Amino acid sequence: MVLLEAQEVTKSFGGVKALNGVDVTLQEGTITALIGPNGSGKTTFFNILTGVLPMDAGRVIFLGQDIGKWPAHRRAALGIARTFQNLQIFQEMTVLENVMIGGFRHTHSGFFGGGFGLPRARREMEQLRDRALELLERMGLAPYQGALAGNLPFGLQRKVEIARALSSRPRLLLLDEPAAGLTTKETLSIARFIQGLKEEGITVFLVEHDMDLVMGISEWVIVLNFGKKIYEGTPLAVKRERSVIKAYLGERGAQG
Ligand code: ADP
Ligand code: MG
Repeated sequence: MVLLEAQEVTKSFGGVKALNGVDVTLQEGTITALIGPNGSGKTTFFNILTGVLPMDAGRVIFLGQDIGKWPAHRRAALGIARTFQNLQIFQEMTVLENVMIGGFRHTHSGFFGGGFGLPRARREMEQLRDRALELLERMGLAPYQGALAGNLPFGLQRKVEIARALSSRPRLLLLDEPAAGLTTKETLSIARFIQGLKEEGITVFLVEHDMDLVMGISEWVIVLNFGKKIYEGTPLAVKRERSVIKAYLGERGAQG
C-alpha cells in the first residue's frame, strides 16, 4: 500500500533550484533511503514533506489526503514525525522530558494548555510517561532518563531525538542523517533499531551518507543530484548505476 506520494515537488531559493520536479512514492512498512551529494536537496525535501517549508509547485499525498498545504502540526498529528540533521533537542530539559514532549499531540490537555491538575490530564501525563519510559528502555537510554539532555554524549543525544519523534506514535518517520557523527558501533546500533521500527510497521524514510547503513537496511534507494531525481532502485541496482557513481565521484569515478 502506498503511504506517501510526492509528485513534481519543486522548490527554489532565490536562483537556486533546490528541488526540480521530484516524484517519490513510499510504500507502507518499508525503509526507503534518499541519498545524493551535499546540497542536492535532501533536507529541503524533508522540510517540504513535514510542512516546515512551503513548496513552489507539486503535490504531497499522505494516506490518500492532499496535505501539501497543511501546516506542520497537522501533518504531525496525522502521523508524520522527523528528526533533524542538526540535532534539535532541549538541552536544559531531562532526557525523559525531551521524549515526553514528542507525545503531546495525543493529549487533550496539551503541554502548555494548562489543566494539569485535572484527573484526565494527570492520566494522560502518566500514559505519556509510560510510553516515553518504554522507548528509553528499548533504546538503552533508561539509565539517563533524569540527566539533562545537553550533558549526554552526542551519540546518545541523537537517540533521544529519535525517541522523541517516536513518542508521537508516527506512521512515517523521517530521519535526516541519523548516523552523522556516530561511531561505527553506534551506527550499527541505530541500524538495528531502525530495522526494528520497520518490523513494528513504521515506515522509514532515511537521508544518510553512510553507504553501509543505507545499503544494509533500505529496500529502495532514491538518488537526488542538483535537485533532480537521477535514479531509484534496489540498493544493489543503485550501487551499479553509472549515473549515481558519476554524481558522487565525478566523471573519472564512473569509468572503472
Ligand atoms: P542536502 O540536504 O541534500 O545537503 P539541502 O536541501 O540542504 O541539501 O540544500 C539544497 C540547496 O538549497 C542547497 O543549494 C542549499 O544551499 C539551498 N538551501 C537549502 N535551504 C535553504 C534556505 N533555507 N535558504 C536558502 N537556500 C537554501
Ligand atoms: Mg541535508
